[in-house]
Amino acid sequence: SNIVEIISVGDEVLRGFTVNTNGAYLAKYLFDRGYIIKYQTNIGDNEFDVTEAIKVASKRASHIFLIGGLGPTEDDLTKEILAKYLGRNLIEHKESLLNLEKYYKGRNRKLTKSSKKQIMVLENSTVLNNLVGIAPGEILEENGIKYYLLPGPPREFHFLVDEYFDKYLEKEVFYSEKINVHALGESPIEVRLRKLGIDGDITVNTYAKGAFTEIDAISYSKDKTKFETCMSLIKNEFKGFTFEENSLEEAIVKRLIEKGLKISFMESITGGRLASSITSVPGSSNVLKESYVTYSNEAKIKLGVDKDIIEKYSVVSKETARSMVEALEKITGADIVVSVTGEAGPVPSVKDVGTVYSSIKYRDEIEDLSFNFSGSRENIQNSSTTSILSRILL
Ligand code: ATP
Ligand code: MG
Repeated sequence: SNIVEIISVGDEVLRGFTVNTNGAYLAKYLFDRGYIIKYQTNIGDNEFDVTEAIKVASKRASHIFLIGGLGPTEDDLTKEILAKYLGRNLIEHKESLLNLEKYYKGRNRKLTKSSKKQIMVLENSTVLNNLVGIAPGEILEENGIKYYLLPGPPREFHFLVDEYFDKYLEKEVFYSEKINVHALGESPIEVRLRKLGIDGDITVNTYAKGAFTEIDAISYSKDKTKFETCMSLIKNEFKGFTFEENSLEEAIVKRLIEKGLKISFMESITGGRLASSITSVPGSSNVLKESYVTYSNEAKIKLGVDKDIIEKYSVVSKETARSMVEALEKITGADIVVSVTGEAGPVPSVKDVGTVYSSIKYRDEIEDLSFNFSGSRENIQNSSTTSILSRILL
């Protein structure tokens, strides 16, 4: 079994004065190696709570990591409590003692009993020499459960994990894959995933990432075929809506480069966010032809948008979005031209706040989009940007 509980010991961490970066690092480290991260516990520096936490963890986890409380002071008692709980003696660790003596000699200080407390280790444990501090780490096994002791100071904690865990931790077999799905909301994606009737051995999570949804699948079962079958089922369900790149804009730039297509934008409500998203990707100069921010009516008309259409239908309308895209095509001759106009708020001027129109023209095809977003001004501008980007990729 590979069920993990991470117990972070320390009043500062418990109370929020120190952020539990060690716990987060360790959880991700172990997750990436096939362990099941089931519990994370935070407790203060007191004997009763540490004892209880170890007792509870021993009933529900097979790998128990204790972080912090290995130092020289009175309130550092993690190791002593674990020794008592497991009925093991604490013995001096030779190499750590030499290290400690060298440390004190170098500083012209006398070794005290409390500093020596740091180099005591549980009998029959694997000791992880701490080359950047004093207190060593330890790994020990009792009743089929593995216990790991790690110091709290992040520098020492990271050193021990990075230096020794690859060697001492068994790698678990597991399968995992991520799929990005765009242009569909997270909830409809979940509904469709549920309908697929995915095997219980495979855990599928969805994460909303703004412009797209990430589907994470993971399986701890050794059945590789079962996992692969499940993945093709998911990919097939969302065919045409998936991409592998880390972001939507990256996927767009890559596809446009492959197809040798140029794109141009005429943006009102988004104030340049569309062009900016594309230019955030290296290599976008091969793709973005030219782009305009036409925030005022005057600017739109100057570039050839029909003044009568704006007056007749309003600047926030399907017709104006169309006229913008047609004017843009004339000026730029780009393969794909995209326009957007809308009401960002917070106070409505011509239409309800959140009303957005966009036209995307590719060759002889025009797609007219309309949206009703809610939320803050920034939210409406960002939603407009991501929703339009997501249509461009289709
Ligand atoms: P020391 O010898 O410094 O006493 P220790 O092993 O006893 O080491 P703690 O006393 O629990 O460790 O913590 C030492 C320092 O390390 C804390 O003051 C805190 O800043 C940091 N620390 C402890 N636990 C964590 C954690 N889980 N995440 C990040 N930082 C931590
Ligand atoms: Mg301490």
